[in-house]
Amino acid sequence: MLKFYYPTGTEDIWHKSRTGKRYRLDSLNRMIMLKALILKKSNTEVISVNKKDDSILSLAHTPTLINSYKTGKPRKLAESSGVLYQKDFYRWVVNNAWAHIMAAENALKENNITIALTDGGHHAEAGSGYGFGPINSMLIASEYLKSKRKVERVAILDLDAHFGNGTHSQACHKPWVLSTDLWRYKLDKWSFTKSEKNVFHKKVENSEQYIKLLPDVLEKIEKFKPDLIWYYLGLDVLETDRKGGVEGFDVDTLRKRNQLMAEFFTKLKTSVVISIGGGYINYQLNRLEVQKQKKELAKLTWESVYSSSCR
Ligand SMILES: [Zn+2]
Repeated sequence: MLKFYYPTGTEDIWHKSRTGKRYRLDSLNRMIMLKALILKKSNTEVISVNKKDDSILSLAHTPTLINSYKTGKPRKLAESSGVLYQKDFYRWVVNNAWAHIMAAENALKENNITIALTDGGHHAEAGSGYGFGPINSMLIASEYLKSKRKVERVAILDLDAHFGNGTHSQACHKPWVLSTDLWRYKLDKWSFTKSEKNVFHKKVENSEQYIKLLPDVLEKIEKFKPDLIWYYLGLDVLETDRKGGVEGFDVDTLRKRNQLMAEFFTKLKTSVVISIGGGYINYQLNRLEVQKQKKELAKLTWESVYSSSCR
């Protein structure tokens, strides 16, 4: 049984176009499509997460940032992630963190692989959201589990195409967290943390280099002996991705990566939580084609989650 933890309120978060038309951000729309897809599959369960306790946010973020998320003031900080401040924003943010905590608690209890049906927030730094991630749910949940003595060490495996600035910048002060990352893109406004000690990242230029370097990352994790692995599953490595794209990274390479992950998780037998990272479609295409691509991306995400977690 594959268990998916879905933050209640995801469907209530909207964005606005320049002409004032409301629409859903790619990152949220994909979760909703994925949820619909999962509900049709057998041997799966979607657990809707709805919790009020917001004290957990302070485990990875500053009081100023949290307060801006709660009150909408200052607006610039409240919207630093790119997600607009709105009525249900704070509720969704809190549920996001809890979805990761609950997914991890179940994974640890049953020593299996669970899925947080949301973004783990690898760009969110202590004092600011970035890249459509207001909070770093993976770090919040790690701190929470550590405080409850449910883990001693955790590892983050970030296979999204973008640099995990939020995760690295916080993990470098926590020797019990191993933060690993293969990345292709980094924005100047994101902080840079060196690859040393418990932070291990490599920049890749193309898919060949990517597949060659992946075993080094996995070896680091294996040697660290974590109690839990956060697998940040990015599909924006695909060369056709609007915001990401690694040269030569096609669907076959993605399937190869899925297979390598399945083998790795089978070998380690460690508890794993999969968190859904980036994946962006091309809006330059006509409406029908955009719809088709959205469906295909949701399907590919499902396939990647499913095949990576077969052990
Ligand atoms: Zn990304």
